[in-house]
This record gives sequence, C-alpha cells and structure tokens, in this order.
Amino acid sequence: MCGIFAVWNAPKAAELTVMGLHVIQHRAIDYAGIVSSDGVNLYRECGKGVARDVFTSDKLNRLHGKSALGHIRYPTVSDDKTLDNIQPIMGIHGNRLIAIAHNGNLTNTEQLEEMIHTKFATSMDTECIPRLLEKHDTGHFERDIISVLVSLRGSFSLGILLPDKLIAIRDKTSNRPLSIGRAGESYFISSETCAFPNVGAEYVQDVEPGTIVTIGPQGIRTTLFAEADEKKCRFEVIYFSHPASVVFGEHAGHVRVRVGRMLEELYPAQEADIVVPIPDSGNLFALGFSKSGRSGKLSGAISRNHYVGRTFIAATQAGRDEEVSKKFIFSSEEIRGKSIVVVDDSLVRGTTLCAVISHLRRLHARAVHVRVGFPPVRHPCRYGVNTREYKELMASSLSVEEIRARIGADSLEFLPLEALKKLSPEPEKFCYACITGDYW
Ligand code: SF4
Ligand code: MG
Repeated sequence: MCGIFAVWNAPKAAELTVMGLHVIQHRAIDYAGIVSSDGVNLYRECGKGVARDVFTSDKLNRLHGKSALGHIRYPTVSDDKTLDNIQPIMGIHGNRLIAIAHNGNLTNTEQLEEMIHTKFATSMDTECIPRLLEKHDTGHFERDIISVLVSLRGSFSLGILLPDKLIAIRDKTSNRPLSIGRAGESYFISSETCAFPNVGAEYVQDVEPGTIVTIGPQGIRTTLFAEADEKKCRFEVIYFSHPASVVFGEHAGHVRVRVGRMLEELYPAQEADIVVPIPDSGNLFALGFSKSGRSGKLSGAISRNHYVGRTFIAATQAGRDEEVSKKFIFSSEEIRGKSIVVVDDSLVRGTTLCAVISHLRRLHARAVHVRVGFPPVRHPCRYGVNTREYKELMASSLSVEEIRARIGADSLEFLPLEALKKLSPEPEKFCYACITGDYW
C-alpha cells in the first residue's frame, strides 16, 4: 500500500507534507519521499523508514518552496530493497522536471513496457507513466497526460507536481481514495481525509473517478478523461484506512462498528463472557459486536504494546508466539476461566490469530470464539494491496471449518459477502476480487 499527501501554496509546505504523511503513516512505513517546488525548480529528498525519521531538519531545509508532493511506500510490485524505488518518481515534460506519486497498481505493465521500449531506472510499475509521457510530449501537459492515462489499466490515484501546478488524478474505477482539502488559498491532496485537520485544512471533495484536478495560480479546475466505472476497494474501509477517515463517502470508523453489530446479529456468541478485539484493527468491530450485550461485555484483555515497531511474521509457531508476545499485552486476570469472543477485522494469513488463541488457552480461557469482519480472503489483490500470494492466504486452500481447526478456535464465523454488500446502497461499485476471484 501507499499514501500520497501534497500541499499547494502554503508556507512551510515540506513540513506540512511531513505532518500529512505522518497522519497517514499506517498505509506504509517502508520508504518516504517528498518533492517540493519554488515555482521554478523542483527539489527532492527521500529515505527509508517513516516520514518523521526520514525528513530531518537538514532535508527539510533543502525542500524549498510553497508546494510539495509526498509519498509513503510499501512495495507491492517489486520486492525491492533499493532506494531507486522511492516515490515521487521524476520525469521530464516540455523540458521541465515533474514529479509523480502513485497509489495503486497498474495491471498492463507488460503491454506498456512494449510501447515504451526503453530501459527502466526502477522496477516500479509507476515508471511507465513518466516514460510514456516522454513519448507523448508535445509540450501541452494536460493533453499529453490524457494520452498516457487512457493507455493505463488497473488502479491509479496519482499526485503530480509541476513547477507551477499540482495535479490530482483518479482512474475511472476510483479503486484507491484521493481527496482534496483547503485552508484559505492553500490546497491539499491526501489519500485519506483524516490528515486534513492536522494541517489546519478542511475536506472539500473527493477526486471524482476518471478526472484530473489541476490546482494552480488560476485556482482549481476539473477535467474528465474517462467515464466512471467504479471498483472501489472494499478492504480500504474495513482495514487500511484510518477509522477517522471518510473513504468513498463512508466514515470508516462508523462502518466498522456497523459491521461488528451485523456480525453479532448473524453469529451471536451467547455463552461468551467477554468480547476482546485484536488491537487496534479489531477495536471498532468489537465495540459494535458488544453493543447488544447478548454476546458478552467489551473487554480490553488484550492491549497493544506501543513501544514495538513493526513485527515480522516468523516461519515457526515458536517464532510467531514470540512476535505476539512483543506486540500484545495479555491481562491474565481478565482471561482466566472466561469464555471469550475474539473479534478482528480480517483473516489473511491467520498467523496472528493462531498465536493469540494459543496465548489465551495458556492463560486458561474456558472457550475462544472468533468473529471476523470481512469474508475469507481467498485471492491475492492485483490492485495495490499486499495481501500476498495464494500459498500465504490461509483461506485460499482451507474451508472455514478447516481454518477453525487450524487456528484452534471453538467457533469461527466471517462476515458473509452478502452482508458486506449490504453496507452500501450501490454494492456493484465496489471491488470484491480478493473474496471472489472476479478480477477486472
Ligand atoms: Fe481491495 Fe480486495 Fe479489491 Fe484488492 S482485491 S482492491 S484488497 S477489495
Ligand atoms: Mg488485523
């Protein structure tokens, strides 16, 4: 996954961009880059790690100007370890430098590479965009970028910085979110709306599917380049986006509470004493699940250790138990002798749930039921979410009953696809490919 945050026409644009990236840092923590503009030249700084660590005061001092485009990255296409693959990626148009930041995944890169026919400097699908733009360069940016955009397939929310313009683009599927905010004469673009208050901005609008929004000295202008054919990512609102964000017009936190309620109505656990979320991803689902009071009281028997960085999932059960011990703190007083419903957002590899349940058993839980707020993830995502390959997806080869046995739960239920579709009045405008395998 990736995140984009950009600022147009504000003092300390680079610092504001770091703040914006910091707020959406949950989307990606591996690499961060910012390109700024002083109206004439572009300046680029980047590094490995989270935005607040990468952008030291030295780097910020070199990011001149009142506009900036930032990107945080978690590699989805190439398993890269090189700094070449940090975004924004640079290109040239009309003899001027431009910077491009991409969230999503192009699905026709082989075909695009044949059209381009030059050697790539990176191993990112995103590089197709500046390379194609060079081929289409007539000096008129909007016309040329449209020639490029119509040849791209898959998912792309883009931020593009020119010396004198900031541009936001969303493909016709609007698979990934992208929103615009404003504070006086300053504009912002962000992958998530939750970043706007922290930079003093207010949400204005989403970038509509198939449109280009150009922000420049003349104000803001929208151009349609493709008819909408929406395939919004259902996993964004369930898992990726911050609960404070409004994603595709839905408040992510409210949706999660609703899903928790639906799960409880469909699959109550009436003999349970307590409802325990896997923090933090399961918190709001568990809140919804516990609302009726029929299936146990909400409990914080498992909490997050906030002093741990990213944990890597180990290959052995012993290794996984150790990771879970680093990441979570278990309250044995709350757990002993209780029948527990564990609630989480999704089950992808199943490794965390497996290790959590074995901890709960060791702490003498009487029973452990599991409820999951998203249907079984049976297929990899092709559109920019790193849900791994088939062999790593527990539900790709196992039935629900086999998963229950594998993770050691007394009962296991997932939110059914039909219930997920009821969340929105226009369910056909969402993507469910990781559940159904119906790729587009
Ligand atoms: Fe989102 Fe799943 Fe579709 Fe990927 S396949 S875009 S994770 S809903
Ligand atoms: Mg989780």
